[in-house]
Amino acid sequence: MKSSLTLILACLYTSLGAAETKPNVIFILADDIGYGDFGCYGATKIRTPHADKLASQGRRFTDAHAPSAVCTPTRYAFMTGEYAWRKQGTGILPGTAGLIIEPGRTTVPSLLKRAGYVTAVIGKWHLGLGKTPTDYNTEIKPGPLEIGFDYAWIIPATGDRTPCVWVENHRVVNLDPGDPIKLDYSVQRGEPRSFVGGIPRIGEQLGGKAALWKDDMIADVLAEKSIKFIEDNKTKPFFLYLATHDIHVPRVPNSRFRGTSEAGIRGDSVHSFDWTLGRVLDTLDRLKLTDNTLVIVTSDNGGVLDTNGATDNVNSGDQKTNNGHAHNGVLRGNKGSAYEGGTRVPFIARWPGHIQPGTSGALISHVDMLSTFASLTQQKLAEADAPDSQNILPALIEGKAGRATLVEHGNVLALRSGDWKYLVSGAGAGKKNQEKAKFPKKPELYDLSKDLGETTNVADQNPEIVAKMAKLLAEIQAKGGRR
Ligand code: CA
Repeated sequence: MKSSLTLILACLYTSLGAAETKPNVIFILADDIGYGDFGCYGATKIRTPHADKLASQGRRFTDAHAPSAVCTPTRYAFMTGEYAWRKQGTGILPGTAGLIIEPGRTTVPSLLKRAGYVTAVIGKWHLGLGKTPTDYNTEIKPGPLEIGFDYAWIIPATGDRTPCVWVENHRVVNLDPGDPIKLDYSVQRGEPRSFVGGIPRIGEQLGGKAALWKDDMIADVLAEKSIKFIEDNKTKPFFLYLATHDIHVPRVPNSRFRGTSEAGIRGDSVHSFDWTLGRVLDTLDRLKLTDNTLVIVTSDNGGVLDTNGATDNVNSGDQKTNNGHAHNGVLRGNKGSAYEGGTRVPFIARWPGHIQPGTSGALISHVDMLSTFASLTQQKLAEADAPDSQNILPALIEGKAGRATLVEHGNVLALRSGDWKYLVSGAGAGKKNQEKAKFPKKPELYDLSKDLGETTNVADQNPEIVAKMAKLLAEIQAKGGRR
């Protein structure tokens, strides 16, 4: 044990000042992949050989959390190091929303750019673009390039929201000026009124016909763009934020994945994700970049079988058949929930020679990436730059403990402190959530060391712990965000 620690420290020292102090960083954020979706996390009806191989070569975390139980706030917190619930307007965004991250603030890409990295985002953005309402027919900014990315190839919002077009840097790809894009989000969320490519979307899209993406080619396009970015920047330190889409509705995996899993079309979509991961890892091997690249694979929130209701079925196969596959493993709740199933997600980190292969129960979150990457690149952050971000590099590299506390953000706020999990009362909460029937009516407390599935509320038996955790959560909330 001691000798392996010495070895690790030696590796760390060797890296200081050497070229490999700047490993390439690839952060792959899957969309809606749940805690039980990879083979290495227990899936049997879905096969994920590439994720499993990565886990065997790196560290697999069992208590890692997306900062929120839905897309936009998770991405905001990942990018800024600030819990999204601190800031108004960071909920799930329509495709007409302006950029919600202030240009000029420290972000993961701007931090890495400062350290000499070439930075790219490829995939789902969903952090707003330009000024509300976004005009897609002109130069679209501010956007990714204004907050630290050198290159962007993005889905503006998400696959089930218009516009259904690619944006490269500041422009819609293949937009015909004679057929401008007009969006109408005046309808209620969850009531798609438009069909684009025969698939229901939230928000109506008029125009932009020549620019429409092909849903069953999204994974292929993202893989090709990622490979090209890696090839083009193989001699420089690079940061690739690859935000895939596959598992989010509408699930339209390419025909070559259809029927390949035993967990319905959702399972086939996980196969599509794993294929993408394989393409990226193969590229690193081919270019001999594997040893000098930190690869992190995780998800933006927990899994869910049926997001938007019956319309998911249109043209996308039966979204509701999973043949008994438990997408969140033993966890309670789904995407959107403050129960563990909402935010506890797979998280695998590989950096050969630096991260010793193994499993870790350290409590970590994507909100920690800003401080962690600052440490990785020997940069100092002011606390105001990343108020909720903690450096978890020791957990990644050395298998040390993670955070002492973490706020989980779902339909209500919840607080983790060690194995205790406290959920605030959701009485009076809104009704739009996936788990609307399951808002806690009064505070809940679970001992996750004995009850990972959050089956037995022990709040009444432990009033002093409830009071302590309520106070701690209030203190964290009062601390405020970016100053
Ligand atoms: Ca998501």
